[in-house]
Amino acid sequence: MGTIKLSREALIHNLDIIAHHVGGKDKIAVVLKDNAYGHGAVLIAQAAAEYGVKHAVVRLEKEADAIREFFETILILGQIAHTPHPKYHYAINALESIAAYPKGTKVELKLDTGMHRNGVSPDQLEKAFETIAACGLECVGVMSHLKSAEALSSEWFWQRHTFDTLKPKVQRYAQRYGWTCRFHLSNSAGTFRARTCVDDMVRVGIALYGCLEMDVTLPSPPLRPVLSLWGDKIATRVLKKGERVGYNGLYEAPCDTVVSTYDLGYANGLDRLASNRYHTPDGVALLGRISMDCATFESDSEELLIFDNANAYAKAVGTIGYEILACLDKGLQREWRKTP
Ligand SMILES: *Cc1c(COP(=O)(O)O)cnc(C)c1O
Repeated sequence: MGTIKLSREALIHNLDIIAHHVGGKDKIAVVLKDNAYGHGAVLIAQAAAEYGVKHAVVRLEKEADAIREFFETILILGQIAHTPHPKYHYAINALESIAAYPKGTKVELKLDTGMHRNGVSPDQLEKAFETIAACGLECVGVMSHLKSAEALSSEWFWQRHTFDTLKPKVQRYAQRYGWTCRFHLSNSAGTFRARTCVDDMVRVGIALYGCLEMDVTLPSPPLRPVLSLWGDKIATRVLKKGERVGYNGLYEAPCDTVVSTYDLGYANGLDRLASNRYHTPDGVALLGRISMDCATFESDSEELLIFDNANAYAKAVGTIGYEILACLDKGLQREWRKTP
């Protein structure tokens, strides 16, 4: 199977930019959900921790278990506590779920400031705090999530405003129960949309991995993609003029053409919609249909760079870099690149 290579230099470069923008490493929480957006959670966790990052965000408890040694706190976004560890914080996504957590669990309350996906509405804030206390839980944070900070609209501003307006109220309630709450609102786009960080931390995912895309009219930091995907050659042949390659013979050679198959297919995360239309960063054409376990390119090199920027592959498919990264096969070999 193909190989995922990670650039440590790019990761550190991105962390430097983020830390500088938010005013210090202490304000960074790295988002490592879904295998660190396909990069490999343990590799990224270890490198981020060595850099000095203290906080991480994941989706599931078992993801937290795998990276626990590296961080001081790990926020679990999408699971009710099963076996809480003192380092774990659990996002409360709904008022009704509060009663399901074991006594003593540390939770962070998610507020709905306008995305209307998960979280408790601001007018249920007091009720939520009462319920958390009554259930014997400890509230250690209040958070929200932005719906469109990368877009040229005022939505970001209004969510920011709503969140800031709720802070004094949160502090009053927290005091009542003797809790200290950290505040965080921004994802990657929100982090760079703002001039400075006015919260206790930011939750950065896609910026960390160097694939943040802001609206072209908005300032965009010079981040570098961390991940590249490489295929190993299976077989080479010469297609004679007029011969067709792969399922349904989608590609017809206009002249004698050297082609090879490489060991990555849609089962490994190469979206099939890129069939017969994608070109690699080196200008190598993907010919015909992508198969389950291989794809044909106009090349005969032993190792072929498929992409070094997930957003470029995503464009050929009509999706976003996030999806391409998150759908990369968990079974692919992941390693640090030897050269920058
Ligand atoms: C995934 C996620 C993030 C990270 O978003 P990016 O756009 O990748 O920075 C932050 N917060 C929450 C709640 C998330 O689910």
